[in-house]
Amino acid sequence: MKRHFRHIDWTLKEVPSADVRVHVVCVSGIPQCTEELPRSPDPVTREDADAWKLSHFTATGHRRFEELSSRVVQWDPDDDVDPRTILGVTT
Ligand SMILES: [Zn+2]
Repeated sequence: MKRHFRHIDWTLKEVPSADVRVHVVCVSGIPQCTEELPRSPDPVTREDADAWKLSHFTATGHRRFEELSSRVVQWDPDDDVDPRTILGVTT
């Protein structure tokens, strides 16, 4: 997504170094299982979530999951513009 603001073109980009947050819950069965990917103080990656889904599937046969994930994005100007020099723009 691109937008023009304060005479500069901005592109909405994912911040690659930011943590991705993933939440997974098993929604298989009647009644639903509701077992969740265990909470961790460390960031949970998509690979961690996939490993847990495989582990839960092979242990229980449950194959349906609800998964929520988040990412951090920010508006970035072109590479030749330092956004810190633009009045009113912060990180
Ligand atoms: Zn389950």
